[in-house]
Amino acid sequence: MIDRRDALKLALGSTAVALAAPALAQTKPRSKIVFLGTKGGPRVGIGASNPANLLVVNDTPIVIDCGMGVSRQLVRAGVPIPSIKYILISHHHSDHNLEYGNLFYNAWAAGLSTPIHSFGPKGLEAMTKTYWELNRFDVETRIEDEGRPDPRPLLIARDITDDGVVLQTPDVKVTAFRTPHPPITDNFAYKFETPDGVVVFSSDTAYNPKLAEFAEGADVLVHEAMYLPAVDRLVIKTKNGATLKKHLLASHTSTEDVGRIAAAAGVKVLALSHFVPGDDPEVSDDDWARDVKKHFAGRIVIAKDLMQLPLPV
Ligand SMILES: [Zn+2]
Ligand SMILES: [Zn+2]
Repeated sequence: MIDRRDALKLALGSTAVALAAPALAQTKPRSKIVFLGTKGGPRVGIGASNPANLLVVNDTPIVIDCGMGVSRQLVRAGVPIPSIKYILISHHHSDHNLEYGNLFYNAWAAGLSTPIHSFGPKGLEAMTKTYWELNRFDVETRIEDEGRPDPRPLLIARDITDDGVVLQTPDVKVTAFRTPHPPITDNFAYKFETPDGVVVFSSDTAYNPKLAEFAEGADVLVHEAMYLPAVDRLVIKTKNGATLKKHLLASHTSTEDVGRIAAAAGVKVLALSHFVPGDDPEVSDDDWARDVKKHFAGRIVIAKDLMQLPLPV
């Protein structure tokens, strides 16, 4: 005979088994980096997409930068856009913010019902307000005509004006660090401290040894990279070549200097993304890594669109 208490125990036992099964079956990591767009610069091409990254921490998706194509790349990566919880913009060059408002709009179009918090340098709050003015006709028509919720209260933007902690949740602490990207000074690298490791995104940056201090001991440093021989080829092809070269050299970091930063910071993995130039078929992965290796002996990842880097590394 099984009395009620035994029956309850059995029932609880079988529940426990039922709950354990999917957990055991779940071998894919709950934290990862997904490189959504790896080509530096605002020009849209048929190759790599413009700059954007995704960091998933314990199933919480965080988008870092919104270059053109970010929404499509999220869909291609199998990430439902309405699941995004946070958006961080590093600086207000268009290859990092052009699809900011539209990414949020696309989340709304796909059924968003929970808020997305966004953070970025001064101007993000104004940009958010202006976005709703730009799209007022469509948004108000759809609310009325299709019975959708008002999206405007669901995008909560905050300007970052100084270095320091910008977000802290039980899963992740995000710290901003100003780094020079002439002529832009409101430009932030971000550090994510997670249960699965520390990840730092450099933003676009001139060679900045202080960034190595900010990234010290990180598990992964995602750093922009410029390949000088290809910049010379690019400059010859471009009408505004001389001015462009001056801008690129003053505001980005050569592969050799990226190696110096990664070595000084002592990171476990260096991932190169935001390639300058990002669409020169003559530049191979070996070219990107060669001068980095002069200084950095750790693991180097040459990012490609939609490549995933599981955490911990
Ligand atoms: Zn850029
Ligand atoms: Zn930039």
